[in-house]
Amino acid sequence: MAKSARTLRTCPAGHRYYKSSDCPTCPVCANEAAVPDNFLGKLGKPARNTLLHYGIDTIEKLAAHTEKEILALHGMGKASLPVLKDELKKAGLQFKND
Ligand SMILES: [Zn+2]
Repeated sequence: MAKSARTLRTCPAGHRYYKSSDCPTCPVCANEAAVPDNFLGKLGKPARNTLLHYGIDTIEKLAAHTEKEILALHGMGKASLPVLKDELKKAGLQFKND
């Protein structure tokens, strides 16, 4: 077992967390900051990470793919499709046709 040198800290937002390093980053804040303020933020984390992994970080890039292509991405679930379609629609876009 590793020696515990962790200390309880409280970030400016009031999150309490234990950290063993000198890194002052609050894990809760870091996690929240990672949620993008666009269509990606509407998705669950696995689906979001999948799209980011494939470089799809804008609604325009999403629209450059077919529905089939997106569904075929590893980590993308069917449950995300209605969300994506809705976001595309809001942006006046749609999935590419096969
Ligand atoms: Zn925090």
